[in-house]
Amino acid sequence: MVFIVFIIGTAGSGKSLLTASFSEWLKINEQDVATMNLDPGAAKLPYTPDIDVRDYVTVDEIMEKYDLGPNGALIMAADLIAGEIENLKAEVDDINPDILLVDTPGQMEIFAFRASGPYIASEISKEPKAITYLFDSVFSLNPMNYVSNMFLAAAVYMRFLLPQIHVLSKCDLISNNDVEIIAGWSEDREALENAINKMLDGSKRLLSYRLSRTIYQLGLNFSLIPVSAKTNEGFIELNAALERVFAGGERITY
Ligand code: GDP
Repeated sequence: MVFIVFIIGTAGSGKSLLTASFSEWLKINEQDVATMNLDPGAAKLPYTPDIDVRDYVTVDEIMEKYDLGPNGALIMAADLIAGEIENLKAEVDDINPDILLVDTPGQMEIFAFRASGPYIASEISKEPKAITYLFDSVFSLNPMNYVSNMFLAAAVYMRFLLPQIHVLSKCDLISNNDVEIIAGWSEDREALENAINKMLDGSKRLLSYRLSRTIYQLGLNFSLIPVSAKTNEGFIELNAALERVFAGGERITY
């Protein structure tokens, strides 16, 4: 059985480095892990993917072939990947790892907010899947940004309807105190509302307050696991969360 983890987050939130570091960490812990790059525009990756969509489609080729700019080519490339689903599936079946970490395109809308992303997620395998959604630490320090990220995470959940784990990425870049504050917002609605009232004013305060209330009413849980792909902090907790989703808390690879 292959457990598939799609790593999703805004551009620069740390998806590729997390794929690199977490897969290495899992290997050290004797887990049978493989990596897949789904970004046809990735120029350089901090790991060598076991399965790479650029073997089938690249943004550079599309730009040249269809005389498109980088954005148009990226959108077209992302849609063309859907046509390569059988090849990608065959590669997954060939390698047949216990866990597959899937690094999604840099700009998350390319994967999350076009038809091809959920199609790929649904067709790549019928085995269990989950999403790890990244909240960038530095960006999330401001409660308005934090609420915007909750909104994006809720939108991603709505698009894929898969179990979703939430990570506070790059936590080594902010103080331990700030990590605790943001993680506290994710556990306690009142703590977030107090921060919104204290740190924001005018329309920003009103919108952040109302939006956070609306998201809470959806009953979604955004408990954040602080993680650093530089120091490996939080990998034990992230792995435990994945094991809870996939194996009822049991180890994934024996
Ligand atoms: P992506 O666009 O979401 O795939 O983000 P990347 O993985 O490419 O990371 C964007 C930048 O943030 C790169 O310069 C990374 O080296 C850096 N970065 C990623 N994760 C971490 C982290 O945990 N800690 C620190 N300090 N930097 C990170």
